Amino acid sequence: MIIVLLGAPGAGKGTLATALKDQLGVHHISTGDLIRAEIKGGTPIGLEIKRYVESGGLVPDEVVTKMIEGKIAATAKDGKGYMFDGFPRTSAQAQDLDKILQKNGLQIDFTLYMEASLDIVLKRLTGRRVCKACGALYHLTGMPSKKPGICDKCGGELYQRADDNEDTITKRMTVYAESTRPIIDFYKAQGKLKAVNADREAGEVKAALLKILNDAKS
Ligand code: AMP
Repeated sequence: MIIVLLGAPGAGKGTLATALKDQLGVHHISTGDLIRAEIKGGTPIGLEIKRYVESGGLVPDEVVTKMIEGKIAATAKDGKGYMFDGFPRTSAQAQDLDKILQKNGLQIDFTLYMEASLDIVLKRLTGRRVCKACGALYHLTGMPSKKPGICDKCGGELYQRADDNEDTITKRMTVYAESTRPIIDFYKAQGKLKAVNADREAGEVKAALLKILNDAKS
């Protein structure tokens, strides 16, 4: 099963993929996580791309596509499939993904457009906290950890992503509207677009995706 999660920052793509990747047995590929790992590791790529992420802009297509190409080449043979989160984010990336999958004898089953309103995504992003050690996601009011600032799963320290501040969020929303939203039409034209209302809480969105998968089977 190959699913692409589409939606604005804060729509809940990471939360949904984390909740379902084991149940569906797919690889969860988040370009945001891959990019943050390069930056944290201080690699040559990380040093080159840090400024794009910090300003709320997009990392150049060729850098991100190379990362994805590497991940798919390393895992395609295991046949598990993928849930892409945060990729593609531009029309060029969407076309590249089709080509990379084709090269590996694969294709997207469907893309899930997670439709969320601006006031809701803003609240989610400003209150989001992430575990430094294991990457688990929390929200100050919506999904708080039991002990403030400490991860329930591994005891790691929770932090606020540098790009989850109001100025950078505003830029990320503009970039989303200009560069990413148009790819919804790309997938619609391929007959591969499904949509869910992502204003709802995480459990309901997860149930909506599971229903889509069940309906597709029957
Ligand atoms: P995310 O964790 O998906 O919100 O991504 C965080 C940041 O990483 C984005 O604001 C971009 O700067 C960068 N990024 C993530 N995925 C991509 C992508 N597919 N193309 C370009 N930049 C990306």
